[in-house]
Amino acid sequence: MRSDFRRFKDIMAGHKTFQGLPVSPGIAVANAVVLERELRKVNRQQIREGTGELEVERLRQAIQKTRRDLENHRSKAMASFGEIVAKIFDAHLLILDDEPTFDQIEEGILTENIKAEYALFRELDHVARNLSAQQVDIFRDRAQDVRDVCRRILNHLDGSPTDSMVGVDKYSILVAAELNPSDILHLDPELIIGVVTDAGGATSHTAILTRILGVPSVVGLRNFSKQVKAGDLLVVNGNSGKIIQNPTAKQFEKYTKKQSQYRSYMRSLSDIHQLEAQTTDGHSVTIAANIELPDEAHRVIENGGDGVGLFRTEYLFLAKGGLPDEEEQYREYIKVAEILNPKPVIIRTFDMGGDKAFPGIDFPHESNPFMGWRAIRVGLEKPEMLRTQFRAILRASIHKNVSIMFPMISDLNELQLAKEIFHEVQADFKQEGIAFDDKMKVGIMVEVPSVAVMAHQFAKYVDFFSIGTNDLVQFTLAVDRGNEQIAHLYKPWHPAILHLIKHTVDAANSEGIHVGVCGEFAGNPLATLLLIGLGVQELSSSPSRIPQVKKIIRSASFEECENLAHKVMDFDTSSDVYDFLLRYMKKRFADMPIWFGNNS
Ligand code: PEP
Ligand code: MG
Repeated sequence: MRSDFRRFKDIMAGHKTFQGLPVSPGIAVANAVVLERELRKVNRQQIREGTGELEVERLRQAIQKTRRDLENHRSKAMASFGEIVAKIFDAHLLILDDEPTFDQIEEGILTENIKAEYALFRELDHVARNLSAQQVDIFRDRAQDVRDVCRRILNHLDGSPTDSMVGVDKYSILVAAELNPSDILHLDPELIIGVVTDAGGATSHTAILTRILGVPSVVGLRNFSKQVKAGDLLVVNGNSGKIIQNPTAKQFEKYTKKQSQYRSYMRSLSDIHQLEAQTTDGHSVTIAANIELPDEAHRVIENGGDGVGLFRTEYLFLAKGGLPDEEEQYREYIKVAEILNPKPVIIRTFDMGGDKAFPGIDFPHESNPFMGWRAIRVGLEKPEMLRTQFRAILRASIHKNVSIMFPMISDLNELQLAKEIFHEVQADFKQEGIAFDDKMKVGIMVEVPSVAVMAHQFAKYVDFFSIGTNDLVQFTLAVDRGNEQIAHLYKPWHPAILHLIKHTVDAANSEGIHVGVCGEFAGNPLATLLLIGLGVQELSSSPSRIPQVKKIIRSASFEECENLAHKVMDFDTSSDVYDFLLRYMKKRFADMPIWFGNNS
């Protein structure tokens, strides 16, 4: 009764609690900035006869200011994320250069005596609607760009803050319905200290992108962004998935304290960066990182990574708004290879499709895109695209630290076809006298259950396996990884997944090939000892997770890992596995403030 009363009082005072999926650990307490996506409607307003010229001038000045903003953002993005991300602003700047459209807007103002805001909104909303109506993703993305540009100009016209995110000038928590790959560039990693989104499961690309920033984040909150106002005080608990809106004074105090404890814990891990990931009885493990953008390679080094276990090259599409050519790809691959040299880099061929339908390829509208036309399936139907990528990767292999990996293999024939094309390109290189590493290792993602089941067969034809638990879990359990509705069913702890991992590792060991895990599970501290005990030789996840995973490995013996794995493999349900590991690891590592959720 009393607690009901307290809850009622809290609600009246605006204190509310929400539960989502924790996807990037840590605690953040700050005011919210809400990422606006909708273009607010502007109603028709007349101006006095004869004032049209002044109105046009007002519009031109707003456009000029918008251009200046965009150019500033471009250089800021260049400094933080490199050229690929910076180029995204070119698409926005191009919209401002579209003379016929802006001439039409000015003409509307002069001939109909309407306000600049309305003339601008009417024209750009019309353009955006036409683009959105197309069934092709590239046009829908463009529609979003047009709306963004329109909103920016409107904000300059009426003096509102120009950008909900870029204008941020103090520590803030970003709240958004969802994040697009291009959104990461708006985020100033110095100021955005937490991210909360309505959409996304733990391994959706929204979640992966927030982890790139290494800030606490929670996803899958359904319609949270509609319930929060810019300026609301928020607590984001990236360890438990709890969000508190307008916390009480007591909660505020408790979480600010936790926030600083967490930060000092992370700082204390900096000593571990340069130490080897080796158990107390001398068993070495490779702790690598997954990257999306070439410039992230620096973060791998800073965090003490042993290499890049997965370079998701499909993000290069962001730069071009289309397919990058051989030279453009080569520049990015060699950059990563040189930053990491002599540490190894695994370059994965494009994995487009699924939730990553990038511009430049006409992706069909599919009702099941994750199981549709994506990754190697696209490559084998477009061998020229694959050849171009192979050439760029081979050219970047001159330091002998680059390997190549194929995504979404489900059948041995696909692997054989991909390898055939790869060998043809190698033969061309020999004939053309181009230098490359002719011992380059070729591997596959084990992310479709058919491959895990037949791992002993695949192991004969590749140099390494990289187990992609993000997809392996969704396909094995039939749970869409990006669907927040069923996110509670997405369980990497499921015994079926653990048995598939073990089966794959055993097959790799009996053929003497290298085996790693590169899904998000690899960075979950709860899973570290278990995966090592199962015989996994490499763990690769977001760079920010490296230090903690290393610390866990350096505190345990391989014998302990094996015993733990042995015990866990006897459990029947995912909750048995998860509950046991949570208890075990919490007790074993009582001083670690980061315990990760059960879905990644
Ligand atoms: C995976 O499926 O586990 C993986 C690492 O690849 P992606 O997340 O890019 O699908
Ligand atoms: Mg995958």
